[in-house]
Amino acid sequence: LQTNKLSLTQRIVLGMIAGIVTGVFLRQLFPDNIFVDTYLTQGLFLVVGKIFVASLQMLVVPLVFVSLVVGTCQLKDASTLGRLGGKSILLYLLTTAIAIALAMTAATLIAPGHGLDMDTSATFDAAQAPALSQVFIDMFPRNPIEAMAKGNMLQIIVFALLFGFAMAISGKPGERLAAVFEDLSSVIMSLVSILMNLAPYGVFCLLAKLFTEMGLGTIANLAEYFLVVFGVLVLHAVMVYPTLLSVFTRLNPKPFMKKMRDAVLFAFSTASSNATIPVTMETATRKLGVHNSVASFTVPMGATINMDGTAIMQGVATVFIAQVYGIDLSFGDFISVIVTATLASIGTAGVPGVGLIMLAMVLQQVGLPVEGIALIIGVDRLLDMTRTAVNITGDTMVTCVVGKSEGKMNTDVYYDENAGIKEE
Ligand code: ASP
Repeated sequence: LQTNKLSLTQRIVLGMIAGIVTGVFLRQLFPDNIFVDTYLTQGLFLVVGKIFVASLQMLVVPLVFVSLVVGTCQLKDASTLGRLGGKSILLYLLTTAIAIALAMTAATLIAPGHGLDMDTSATFDAAQAPALSQVFIDMFPRNPIEAMAKGNMLQIIVFALLFGFAMAISGKPGERLAAVFEDLSSVIMSLVSILMNLAPYGVFCLLAKLFTEMGLGTIANLAEYFLVVFGVLVLHAVMVYPTLLSVFTRLNPKPFMKKMRDAVLFAFSTASSNATIPVTMETATRKLGVHNSVASFTVPMGATINMDGTAIMQGVATVFIAQVYGIDLSFGDFISVIVTATLASIGTAGVPGVGLIMLAMVLQQVGLPVEGIALIIGVDRLLDMTRTAVNITGDTMVTCVVGKSEGKMNTDVYYDENAGIKEE
């Protein structure tokens, strides 16, 4: 069959385009059609799409736990771990702050909310975002099995770090266990490769369902807001990341941009940094050459605490909502938004739509009406998908910077066009 000659990336892109086209066609040709609704949108598309996302999520906890234990065990001393943690947290905060500052500047200059006559009577039920002190307390699991069952990433990271560290200092028993964990880790990575082959079908169904259900009418009203968020997201991904990467690592950013494709497509279709962890991890280690001892730590941590794309949406949304309600933001408010949005990202997991919960926290901080979120919610899904792609690109960029600076990156793999791409 002809399609067997296509690479996985090409097949995913095909699935994506076919999904969008199918969705738009079904919506135009068969609006409110019972058959389409029952058997396709709520039938085939829903089932295959959900199975695809579940198959990715299924791998997240075992993969993060096992590879982080192996990684920590290889690090052997606590000071390396401290340095790794310090560097990555600093870089994660820095990139988020740059992202949001860029977003707020663009939104202030372009002013997408000025002169808009919108119905501001809608309400929005904001879920409570956790307090920062609670975030730190909650990082320590009382019950590691519960942490794994609930997929609480920060708790799993803390337990895996302690467990791996204990293994490293336990002599023979630690070594025996390390061999088992290393084997487990490569078996799980093979499982990632197998399940990635489901992607073209999964992506097709996710997008076909989304576009059958989503009218593009809402986007028309908010076109300017949408375009500002989208524009800054793209700018951040294609300008800021390559620049930072080459400044910090002296590597040519081209292979990075090229090899990120699969992970970006997965993130875009699932709108979840968390569900994309297996693919991000595979990209960072097998394609970009970062050693597992760094990537197994920075990737899951980044998926949880680093959300540059989300910060961009929050920056634009805050300025937009202030403009619609005719409220002036002071310079102090700007700083306050940057700090709150950066910190809010630490306590919230990378799952679809979580950015809006964080936005509620930011709006409250600067005294803007939380109901403003109701104005932008209509166009949020597409932006959620796009910003998730940016979020995981940021995680991987920082992973490369930390890996390179620690001497834990194989640049031959980085420059090898075929690295990590298996013949299927
Ligand atoms: N969906 C995003 C992520 O998983 C978070 C968000 O912006 O809502 O990274």
